[in-house]
Amino acid sequence: MISFYPGPSRTYSLIPDYVQDAAKTGVMSMNHRSSECMALVKKTIQELRKKLSIPASYTVLFTSSATECWEIIAQSLINDQSIHLYNGAFGSKWFNYTKAIKPNALSDSFAVNHALNPNQLSYDQGDTICITQNETSNGTQVSNAIIRGIKKNNPNHLIAVDATSSLGGIELNFASADVWFASVQKCLGLPAGLAVLICSSRAITRAEQVGNTTHYNSLINQVRMIKKFQTTHTPNVLGIYLLYRVMKSVSAISVIHKRISKQANEYISMINRIPYLEMYANNTDVLSDTVMTVKASEEAIKKIKWRAKKAGLLLGEGYGALKLTTFRIANFPAIHQKEIKALRSFMEELT
Ligand SMILES: *Cc1c(COP(=O)(O)O)cnc(C)c1O
Repeated sequence: MISFYPGPSRTYSLIPDYVQDAAKTGVMSMNHRSSECMALVKKTIQELRKKLSIPASYTVLFTSSATECWEIIAQSLINDQSIHLYNGAFGSKWFNYTKAIKPNALSDSFAVNHALNPNQLSYDQGDTICITQNETSNGTQVSNAIIRGIKKNNPNHLIAVDATSSLGGIELNFASADVWFASVQKCLGLPAGLAVLICSSRAITRAEQVGNTTHYNSLINQVRMIKKFQTTHTPNVLGIYLLYRVMKSVSAISVIHKRISKQANEYISMINRIPYLEMYANNTDVLSDTVMTVKASEEAIKKIKWRAKKAGLLLGEGYGALKLTTFRIANFPAIHQKEIKALRSFMEELT
């Protein structure tokens, strides 16, 4: 079965080989305070910086999930009030998790087909703006240019970006925000249980101002430990090793981005050719490059998913409220060309 689920998603084909290498070389029981582990963490960060073009001034940390990153941001970075810009289920979850920790959190939700206009988004209130760059539930994204514009118009706010289903697939302009994070089981094509948290020096200064040290994962504690290439707790060392091997093997993000965005355009025009299917969002300016969310009648969705399964293709279910009326296709770099071809010929037959 070829998985087009947008997370947990198809992992890179060589992962089983890397796991064997990890077993052979002692990575599985590596002491997280050992010099070997520190060297592994160091080279993983170096490889991430190189392949994803992460600026040298940004600190790279390892956490266990994107959800944990939401919590870290709420505890360690938000002074009193965050503003959440979102149009779907993941952005809404982030808002709700944050509100439980920092009750003054504000939501500024927008319509699925609305492209944010930074000139209308200058806030007097709040100290942190939270943006879901790629909304995995409905297949829309916020562009680098818009994020940059929001930062420019809110120079005193910290900008935090959830890039869980796009990091590793498209070029993100890190300088346009202060905090970026993603768990690895989506666009990074790895097994779950690890996430990457990337922070600007401004974000670290904010963490020092907020001064929260009461949690094992308080940002201040994490930053102190990563200076020695260590973590506050025993991290997912195998996950870090797999991330290292994958990052070592992939092309630069600019190269991957070109392929992913070309494939996205091909998916979109193909879906638009099928009379009873349409993209969930109909404003092409907001469509995601990495997650295709396709709308049809409940009956058609059921039938397509069933027929796809018979053809050995696992389509992603619709998420949450969109479960019955949409399906999703991950356009992630770990998916092979021949697998995409198989899906395309299956879809062509639907026309
Ligand atoms: C999947 C997802 C999350 C949650 O990731 P976990 O690893 O389960 O914490 C958060 N944000 C977005 C945009 C996601 O797609």
